[in-house]
Amino acid sequence: MLLQTQIWLNEMDKKISGLAKKFQSPDFYSNIQTEGSSYKLLPFNFERVKGDYLLTNEVGEYVRLKEEELTAFVHQRLDTSSKSYAALKSRHFLYEAGEESPIDLLSLKLRTKHSVYRQFTSLHIFVVSLRCDYSCPYCQVSRKKEAASEYDMDEATALRSLDFVFRTPSEYIKIEFQGGEPLLNWEMIKFIVIEAEKINKIEGRNLAFVIATNLTLVNDEILEFCYQHNILVSTSLDGPSEIHDRNRPRPGKDGHEIVRRNIEKVRSRLGPDKISALMTTSELSLSSSNEIIDEYLDAGFNGIFLRPLSPYGFAIKTHQIEKYDFERFFEFYKESLGYIFKINESGVTFTEEYTSLILRKIFQSYPTGYVDLQSPAGAGLSAIVFNYDGDVYASDESRMLAEMEDKRFKLGNILTDSYETIFLESGLLDVIENSLTDSMPGCYQCAYKPFCGSDPVYHYATQKDFVGHKAFSSFCVKTKSIVNYLLDIMENDPVRRNILQSWI
Ligand code: SF4
Repeated sequence: MLLQTQIWLNEMDKKISGLAKKFQSPDFYSNIQTEGSSYKLLPFNFERVKGDYLLTNEVGEYVRLKEEELTAFVHQRLDTSSKSYAALKSRHFLYEAGEESPIDLLSLKLRTKHSVYRQFTSLHIFVVSLRCDYSCPYCQVSRKKEAASEYDMDEATALRSLDFVFRTPSEYIKIEFQGGEPLLNWEMIKFIVIEAEKINKIEGRNLAFVIATNLTLVNDEILEFCYQHNILVSTSLDGPSEIHDRNRPRPGKDGHEIVRRNIEKVRSRLGPDKISALMTTSELSLSSSNEIIDEYLDAGFNGIFLRPLSPYGFAIKTHQIEKYDFERFFEFYKESLGYIFKINESGVTFTEEYTSLILRKIFQSYPTGYVDLQSPAGAGLSAIVFNYDGDVYASDESRMLAEMEDKRFKLGNILTDSYETIFLESGLLDVIENSLTDSMPGCYQCAYKPFCGSDPVYHYATQKDFVGHKAFSSFCVKTKSIVNYLLDIMENDPVRRNILQSWI
């Protein structure tokens, strides 16, 4: 038996060394330089777009080349006095023999792009109640009835969650209260804010609070507390009443009237910049882009985030998610952006937030901090969720998935598990490892990689796989379509380019 094992091992050794012979030594790859050429290539990806080639590198610089230029470039025969050569050199696609600084500069930019991970988890979401007074058909969290108080967070769970929050090495800590409708458990929000501030007297972190609320229960006492503790407010506004009240039904059918009235109430007590709003695109929204944007202007906002539906919770149960595909959303996005350009051309500054994020990814060296477009994914690394019952999830979407009985992304329970167990033994490392676009099939060679990220929860929800097949991924199509659309404007439309530049 021992002899047989030894023979098998010898055979395996031979096979492995046979395989290894197929690769050249590292020196071979680091010193490739065509004889007579004065430059070497740096890493890049490319994609054919409308007859030309889009080249991008690790830090998100990009260049467009004609096919013959690309061929000459990779064979190191490109005319060194050409414009394309100058662009490729200045954007770190090549370096000249004897130069070391381009590689150092590229490394520095790469470190800066990924610097968000130095901070580790900074966003801590507390789901203080799953109860809600609304019954939105697209709700992603499977809310519970208003009277069901067993879905509220209690003090013991809140205190243990705060222990976890302050274990993060991050200098910045943002605690966001979500639901259901978090104001239905207002006493718990107050408790958590006061306790967090007590701990922070010793910790001295940069601590911020946000309440994500439909604003129905906002009153003077709540606003006074928010004012005293510098708490920001985030609400939902889907458009004019015809859209908002149908998307977000509540008893009395007066959600729109309440939210508009209370947006003003919040502004007048907390200040004009202390409230923001999010919209969700339902099937009804698709034909009303201008009216939705007008509503945001009328409500005093200077921007909008055009958000498609997410494939979780009631959006699945009520089949809302099937009512339009990405192509239809993209039409809506382009129509909306066209109208937003007109508003800006008339002298009023109004932005589309997702567009701003993508532009910052393309044109700025610093990370955007947008959790949904990170590699490795922001789940657990940048954000973490403490559910009302003590369960801990890697992201808001993971929690939404769990409410659909799929607890694949549950990291543990703070009442029974340690910080180390939750971060190191829960399967989170597996998710993170599977969310690196640099090694992900379909992504590692993609020219859009620097402007994209990975979303293992989305791909698991839609394809039952962390990585997902990118040919069937709306997440992937969305990045490519929007980046192409924006680059086209930046390169060919000087008026709109100026507007987009002003947003970043
Ligand atoms: S998801 Fe698509 S666009 Fe994004 S990096 Fe992967 S292949 Fe490219």
